[in-house]
Amino acid sequence: MAQDYDPQNIFARILRGEIPNDTVLETEHSLAFRDIQPQAPEHVLVIPKGPYITYDQFALEASDAEILDFTRAIGQVCRMLGVQPGNGGDGYRMIANAGRAGVQEVQHLHVHLLGGRALGRMLQPLQ
Ligand code: AMP
Repeated sequence: MAQDYDPQNIFARILRGEIPNDTVLETEHSLAFRDIQPQAPEHVLVIPKGPYITYDQFALEASDAEILDFTRAIGQVCRMLGVQPGNGGDGYRMIANAGRAGVQEVQHLHVHLLGGRALGRMLQPLQ
């Protein structure tokens, strides 16, 4: 069963201006801001402004304009942070946690962009 979007989640409150954020980029359909508990020298969250919970839901239900805007915003933020490989950047990791197994804490779609240090392997291999 699809999960209901909770308009009181913390990112919805950020989008309504009820909670401050450290904005990196704002576009028509997306907002990028610094994570409050950074796990790397560069740790930015990119979120769509629409009420989407997970990436799969966004990918299947969002409008073309929202998807284009969100995708371009992610690219733009990588350039702004200078983490894109080549042109001086050393690389980054993009993570979108979803649901219980993915350990998603905030129930509004967000992509983590992490960089500025060696990030190690993504997960441990299965035994
Ligand atoms: P996730 O486990 O993918 O849902 O990650 C949620 C992320 O949101 C965590 O990295 C938190 O540090 C971050 N976070 C929670 N509240 C805020 C906030 N008010 N401003 C910025 N980042 C936040």
